Amino acid sequence: MRMKNMAQNQTQSASTNKKISTYLTLIVLIVMALAITALLIAGETYLAGDQLAAGVLAGIGLIALVLSVFLLYQSKLQTAQVKIEVPKVMTTIECANKACNTKTVREFQRGDYVYKDLDITCTKCSGKQMVTAIYKEIKEKEKTFNV
Ligand SMILES: [Zn+2]
Repeated sequence: MRMKNMAQNQTQSASTNKKISTYLTLIVLIVMALAITALLIAGETYLAGDQLAAGVLAGIGLIALVLSVFLLYQSKLQTAQVKIEVPKVMTTIECANKACNTKTVREFQRGDYVYKDLDITCTKCSGKQMVTAIYKEIKEKEKTFNV
């Protein structure tokens, strides 16, 4: 039951992250469009002869453009990091046949629980299989930290 809740929380947080990033991307795109508009107006103002106003507009446009590109890059970097940080929940399946004792590990699937009898039979002896463990995958980094 606890494992089920944890998996649900994971998908929830992932979807909120996605929402925030699309929202941010939209704002960045608007700022980028405004920056390009400012640059275009700056060009026109320069041609009209007002160099000071053109310089100010070009400056604002450039700063906004650089900022929006930076934000876009940063948000993409962050979402990539978030994806890596989410630990996978793994399920260990063991063959019920003591003589065979085949162990398989796969990603957690909805409805998995410890001591659950599976419909899928063992690949070696075609005997019954059972879920023996459900756990979060530990990263290599954390493992070496303990040693
Ligand atoms: Zn087996």
